[in-house]
Amino acid sequence: MPRGVMPRRPTKTGRHEGARLKSSAIAVPAGPGKGRKVAAKSLTSSASAKAPKKAALTAARNGASKGYNPTSPQRISDILKRLDQLYPDVTCALTHKNPWELLVATILSAQSTDVRVNMVTPELFKKYPTVQDFAKLEPQQLEPDIRSTGFFRNKSKSVVGAARRVVNEYGGEVPDKMEDLLTLPGVARKTANVVLGTWFKKADGLVVDTHVHRISRRLELTKNDDPKRIEQDLMAVIPREKWILFSHQIIWHGRKLCFARSPKCVDCALENICHAEDKTWSTVEKHKGAKG
Ligand code: SF4
Repeated sequence: MPRGVMPRRPTKTGRHEGARLKSSAIAVPAGPGKGRKVAAKSLTSSASAKAPKKAALTAARNGASKGYNPTSPQRISDILKRLDQLYPDVTCALTHKNPWELLVATILSAQSTDVRVNMVTPELFKKYPTVQDFAKLEPQQLEPDIRSTGFFRNKSKSVVGAARRVVNEYGGEVPDKMEDLLTLPGVARKTANVVLGTWFKKADGLVVDTHVHRISRRLELTKNDDPKRIEQDLMAVIPREKWILFSHQIIWHGRKLCFARSPKCVDCALENICHAEDKTWSTVEKHKGAKG
């Protein structure tokens, strides 16, 4: 390599952006979802044009580009296409053979990992093969079997309570309606959406777990922090036929690349349409407040 020629690599701070904007083509989020390329030359060709263009670039860095709409149909479609390419047919990672097993595994996965839960459930379902077996237990009897998933006392109460209600109120069959699932102990919308979407293929809502929460905020699909509000925001912009797959794709993206700490932005296919404030590598402007 000739002396003095060093490859540029964006810094972790994002402060490289000014340099990049002057030296090459830049992507400025435009109208509904349109990323338009602006040639660097045109930014410096006339002295009189410098001031307003500089102001426009500053505005772009602040996420204030005129007309930029992070939830425009075109941007959403772009995000969905890229997710389809990255994760074409992903589904729930929790091992299960029937809706009861999926329900139990989902309850156990709270504040835990799917890997941990998948280590526990095979033995658990061998020991208690049916929902009726769980319904006969006292919560304390279940505790040792699920201890390693954390919060085992509450989870034991939830699983046994859910089993009793499924047996007593629903004839031993896990209900396939949101309003019924929500009556089961330990079941909130997240768990209900997992069961409805994954097993019953019913799109009643979107699963909002920690990954969906974080990445939806980074991608500016929501500004909310409350899972119910995030779900409503997502339901408003993601086409219903994509709700089930989108949730799984985002969860996988959170596991593979878009980590809570140090996301692997350099390897991310969404990088040039992601303006997250807490990106670790960026070729586009970062937007204040767009972070998990
Ligand atoms: S670019 Fe980074 S922050 Fe944005 S979605 Fe990809 S991994 Fe996440």
